[in-house]
Amino acid sequence: MATVAEEWLNICGGCEVAILDIGEKLLDLLPSLQFVHMPVLMDHKYYGQIGEKTELEIPQADVGMISGGIRNEKEKHVAEEMRKKCGTLIALGSCACFGGIPALANMYELQELYDKVYRGSKSTESNNTPSVDLPPLTDRVYALDEVVKVDLYIPGCPMNPAIIVEALTALLNGKPFSLPERSVCDDCPTKREEKSNFSLKRPLQDADFTPGDYGSLRCFNEQGIICLGPVTKSGCGKPMNGGENVPRCVKGFMPCRGCFGPIRSDANPMVDMMSALSAIGLDAKLVEDRRAMFNRYIGGQKRLRPLPTAGRRE
Ligand code: SF4
Ligand code: SF4
Ligand code: SF4
Repeated sequence: MATVAEEWLNICGGCEVAILDIGEKLLDLLPSLQFVHMPVLMDHKYYGQIGEKTELEIPQADVGMISGGIRNEKEKHVAEEMRKKCGTLIALGSCACFGGIPALANMYELQELYDKVYRGSKSTESNNTPSVDLPPLTDRVYALDEVVKVDLYIPGCPMNPAIIVEALTALLNGKPFSLPERSVCDDCPTKREEKSNFSLKRPLQDADFTPGDYGSLRCFNEQGIICLGPVTKSGCGKPMNGGENVPRCVKGFMPCRGCFGPIRSDANPMVDMMSALSAIGLDAKLVEDRRAMFNRYIGGQKRLRPLPTAGRRE
C-alpha cells in the first residue's frame, strides 16, 4: 500500500477534476493507494483543527502530487513542506510543470500587475493594493521545479486522466515513467499537404471542417489557423480504455494551444514554431503577440520575462 498526499497551489481546480475523472480506474487503484492528504476531498487543516499549531502540518507520504505553480509565499512554503514529506514528487498539470496560463503574467513587473488590477481596470473601483492577512506574492510565477526538486512530470491543462493512471501504476510497480518525445502532430489525423495557400487568420476564426470527420480536416496551420502541434508534446489524446488516439483539441476541431509543453525540456517552442510556419509558407512575423501565443502555458522557468515597454507588442 502506497500513501499519497496531494496539494493544490496556484490553480483553477481543473487538475483536481481530472483526478476525479479517472473514474472507475481509480477504484482499481484504490486497494494499492491510501490518500492521506488531499484538500479538495478531505478537510485537513494546515495548523491543527483550530489553528493551535505553529508548524505547517502535512503527513508523510510515499508519493506527493502537486497541481499549480507558485505565485505566493504560502504556496512556496507548502511546496517545500510537501518535498520534505513525500518520497516521490509529481508535478501535476501545466501550471505545476511550467507555470501554466498564470505565468503569462511573467511578461509584466509585479507593480504593473497591481496597478492594472487594483487601479487600471475599468470594471474595478480604484483602491490600494490589499496586504492585510494575505501571503505576499512572489516576484513572478514559478514552475514547481524552480522551487523544489520534481521527480515526475504529468503535463496538460488539465492532465489526461489516462496518463495519471499510467504514471501511478508505473510507480506502484517500481517502474520508470516519462512521456515519449513525440509531437501532437505525430498523433494528428488531419490531412497535410506541407504547404499553405491561406493567409494567417485570427485565432477564433472558423476552420473548414465536416463535423465528426477528422479524415477530411486539413491541418489547421495549413488553413492559416495557428496550431502549436509541431512544438507540443503528445499524450493528450491517449484513451483510457483503448480506442483512437486523437489529440484532444483536434478531436473538438480546434487547434492545439500547446498545453502539454515542449517536446524536450531544452526546446525553444517560439523559434521552432516560427520555423514550422515558415516551412509551409506562412509569415510567422505576422502572428499577433507571438511571445504570449507561443509560450502560452510555459512562462515559468524564466521562459517569459518583462520586456522594456517599447518591446511589449511583437
Ligand atoms: S494546468 Fe490548467 S487545469 Fe490544471 S490547474 Fe492549471 S489552469 Fe487549471
Ligand atoms: S499542426 Fe495541428 S492540425 Fe496540423 S498536423 Fe499538427 S496538430 Fe494536426
Ligand atoms: S491538443 Fe494541444 S492544447 Fe489541446 S489538449 Fe492536446 S496538447 Fe493540450
